Amino acid sequence: MKTHSTTLLVIGGGPGGYVAAIRAGQLGIPTVLVEAARPGGTCLTIGCIPSKALIHAAEEFDKLRHFDGHSALGIRAEQPSIDIAQTVRWKDGIVGRLTTGVASLLKKHNVQVIEGRATIVDGKSVDVVSADGSTQRIQCEHLLLATGSVATELSFLPFAGNILSSTEALSPTKLPKRLVVVGAGYIGLELGIAYRKLGSEVAVVEATERILPAYDDELTKPVHSALKKLGVDLYLNSSVLGPAAQGGGVRVRTATADEFTLSADQVLVSVGRRPRSEGFGLESLQLDMAGRAVKVDDQCRTSMRNVWAIGDLTGEPMLAHRAMAQGEMVAEIIAGKHRRFHPASIPAICFTDPEVVSVGQSPQDAAKAGLDCLHASFPFLANGRAMTIEANDGFVRVVARRDNHLIVGWQAVGRGVAELAAAFSQSIEMGARLEDVAHTIHAHPTLGEAVQEAALRALGQALHI
Ligand code: FAD
Ligand code: NAD
Repeated sequence: MKTHSTTLLVIGGGPGGYVAAIRAGQLGIPTVLVEAARPGGTCLTIGCIPSKALIHAAEEFDKLRHFDGHSALGIRAEQPSIDIAQTVRWKDGIVGRLTTGVASLLKKHNVQVIEGRATIVDGKSVDVVSADGSTQRIQCEHLLLATGSVATELSFLPFAGNILSSTEALSPTKLPKRLVVVGAGYIGLELGIAYRKLGSEVAVVEATERILPAYDDELTKPVHSALKKLGVDLYLNSSVLGPAAQGGGVRVRTATADEFTLSADQVLVSVGRRPRSEGFGLESLQLDMAGRAVKVDDQCRTSMRNVWAIGDLTGEPMLAHRAMAQGEMVAEIIAGKHRRFHPASIPAICFTDPEVVSVGQSPQDAAKAGLDCLHASFPFLANGRAMTIEANDGFVRVVARRDNHLIVGWQAVGRGVAELAAAFSQSIEMGARLEDVAHTIHAHPTLGEAVQEAALRALGQALHI
């Protein structure tokens, strides 16, 4: 067996692993990255990017359909149609450009990429089996685990045929007439709304009493209303029992024990993701675990010396930007820099229509943490830019300490609010107070003015409401 050695060996080329490898390469650390599929991981190939591409295509198509009837803007478009195969080719083109870009960045920074499946032998050696069946052993000083996560399967609805995970739902060959979505979380609502806009009838079955349980009630209300307006059927407090006896649908039970069948051509199961911690010899290291996730400290060290773990493998929040930040930090620590992972906040965005953003603490989080906070919202109804782009639903909310006005949280819901996340994160990370934001000149007319107005309102000085 061919054997070679390196300083850093990264297993997994998703946002966590590839960023760690690029940074390590920049810092002159000899680095090998092993990836079984394509560089870019879940995020670039079957996650963030393809889903946002499909959402955009669905929005554009929905706009045209909207103009097929009465339009207040005076625009008319007649009988629009969509060639979904071309949409998927366009989406795949974006994925291709990004994964090629990641591969060239890795090359530019002297990272050796090995295509193949890694199996851990011990904390310092890994066997890699390539597609041609050849095996090589790589020995390393530092082992970085970045194997990501996989979709959670329901035992009674395994992924196969017309039971889809997000991966299949992102590459439709044909649009289903009727889609049932199980789970009203990130994936269920982002893709459920996209499919509805593409023309499918969509029903969503959610086990809890509300949609997007990760966000507070006030934030998700506008999304709930939008689902109704779009004609998405929502079954809250309901569980799927299994496939329907006939046809392609599912049997559902409500909280009041009523049972009924929802017919469907396809069922998208989106009930969460779990860390990919099995099937590649990880168990042999006997690392401390937190459930299925690898337990790490605030430097992403595992319980074994010089074995590190980042990204979805380390559990919630399973977000690409968290994985990237951890990866960059680990490379710097290995290079001898003093770094710790304690961000003031990790932004979360749900790309529904309207979009939902949460950075830092909500009023409820702050109260639970025993902080005496004030909070204020500014509605897009009173924002000129929002009116001109037909985005007057939603609001921006700020949460700040009552004593010194330190901002501890921002939330927003509305069309296009994802782009406000940068301002929110920066103000929290930089320790801004309400006065800092309230007295910053915000360009007019922009949605960002609602950010300034929320801060002004918290100070009792709102100008436009
Ligand atoms: P991954 O991206 O999962 O990468 C792990 C890589 O490791 C994979 O490429 C895999 O092939 C490889 N691998 C695993 N085991 C082995 C092995 N034994 N040998 C070799 N290679 C191996 N997050 C956001 O922040 N924003 C979004 O908008 C967003 N949208 C999403 C939409 C969908 C549909 C999904 C499914 C996820 C979305 N996410 C989003 C989550 C995001 O994709 C993940 O948080 C992110 O990809 C995690 O990065 P990672 O590096 O930890 O793992
Ligand atoms: P999720 O955790 O966001 O939502 C799962 C939903 O399914 C929850 O509402 C849960 O109550 C519900 N559920 C669980 N079991 C159920 C059952 N048996 N029947 C009905 N409902 C059930 O999970 P997801 O939507 O699969 O997404 C997985 C992860 O991927 C997310 O947690 C997030 O980390 C990541 N992601 C992020 C983004 C983004 O950042 N915009 C987008 C997509 C995915």
